[in-house]
Parts: sequence; C-alpha cells; structure tokens
Amino acid sequence: MVHPKEERTLVLLKPDAIQRALMGEIIRRYERLGLKLVGLKMVVPTEAQVEGHYTLDPNWRRITGEKTIKSYRERGLTPPSEDPHEITAKILKNLIKYLTAGPVIAMVWQGAHSVELVRKITGGTEPRSSPVGTIRGDFVPDSYVMSDNDDRAVRNLIHASGTVDEASMEIPHWFHAKELIDYKVTHEDILYAKELQGIFTS
Ligand code: GDP
Ligand code: MG
Repeated sequence: MVHPKEERTLVLLKPDAIQRALMGEIIRRYERLGLKLVGLKMVVPTEAQVEGHYTLDPNWRRITGEKTIKSYRERGLTPPSEDPHEITAKILKNLIKYLTAGPVIAMVWQGAHSVELVRKITGGTEPRSSPVGTIRGDFVPDSYVMSDNDDRAVRNLIHASGTVDEASMEIPHWFHAKELIDYKVTHEDILYAKELQGIFTS
C-alpha cells in the first residue's frame, strides 16, 4: 500500500482568487496543515483545457446535472430543464467563460488525506452555504441564487479534486510528470515518523 502521506490533490486558483489577491492566504491555509506543495504554475487555460478538465470523469455531466436539479428543488424552484445533460451543458459553458477570464494558478498538494482535507479547508461548492472558517465561506459571498439569475458560474475561488480518483485524472491534465517535484520538507518527520526522535539536544 502507498503510504497516505503520498496522496496528491489538484487545486486551481480560479481567476477571481487571483484578482482578489487571495493567493497567499489560500496557499497559507493548505501549507499550515502540513501539506507539501509539489507543483505550481500560472496558466491561461484554453477553452478545450477547461472543458477537458471538467469532463475527465465520464459521469460528471450526469452527476452535476442531477445535483443542480436537486439544488433547484431544495430552493423551491423549478429547474430550467429536467434533463441533467442539458443543465450541465449550460454550466460547462459558464465554467469555460469563468476559468478563461484571467490567469489561473494550478497547484498539486501532497500529504496524508490531502484530497479530503483540502476539500474540508476549501468548503462546499456554494460559498454562501460554506461554513465559517472555510476559504469559500470566509472570503466570498456568492450564491446559486445570484449566479443562476445572472446565468454565470458561481464564483467560488477554487477548484479542488473531489476524490482520489478524480485527482489522479486531473493532475496529469494540468502537469507533466517532470513538473512535479519529489522532495522532502523537514516537518514531515514530525508529522509522519513512527517515533519522534532527535528533538532533545543532549
Ligand atoms: P466542486 O467540486 O465543489 O467545484 O463542485 P462540482 O465538481 O460538483 O461542480 C463543478 C462546478 O459546477 C461548480 O464549481 C459550479 O460552478 C458548478 N455547479 C455544480 N453544482 C451546481 C449547482 O447545483 N448549481 C449551479 N448553478 N452550478 C453548479
Ligand atoms: Mg468537483
């Protein structure tokens, strides 16, 4: 079994995160958990790159459509269509506009349970309902009510891989293997070593 400390996850800082001058704040939050940054670059993604990213999982169109229909119902609204694929086509068009509106920062973070913990720190998809203390909950007021009304993507600052499987598809979509760096940070011994050793000087 691969040690959990080897787990990697993809994070994208979307154009609004860069414009809001939040890159340092966001990196700080992942870094202070003890995660290790193993890849980082600023990119202006193409439309095809963004579409490719969201459709890496062949089920994403159906799942996102179903999730959106459910979220309309929960708000007591009639969804614009009963067909999940039709709904997702519109969401995807808006996501492409959103992610190509400015530079994006792509990062790969490594550490124990990195996929799950980055999602926990990041918060839920909709900033309005994301808990206090999460990045989306703390730094952005956007909601489905506003974004749907204006027919745009919800501005939630960040993309973070949802599952380990998703991460394993998303990382090579944004990074060549040689752009990811294997290295050690000294605090890994404190986080992961079986014994805490070498602290006392005599
Ligand atoms: P994430 O992993 O938290 O970003 O969420 P998903 O992977 O489920 O969805 C990707 C993107 O699709 C989100 O960032 C939203 O822009 C959009 N999206 C997902 N679910 C909904 C929804 O229920 N309503 C609307 N309007 N957009 C959604
Ligand atoms: Mg997702």
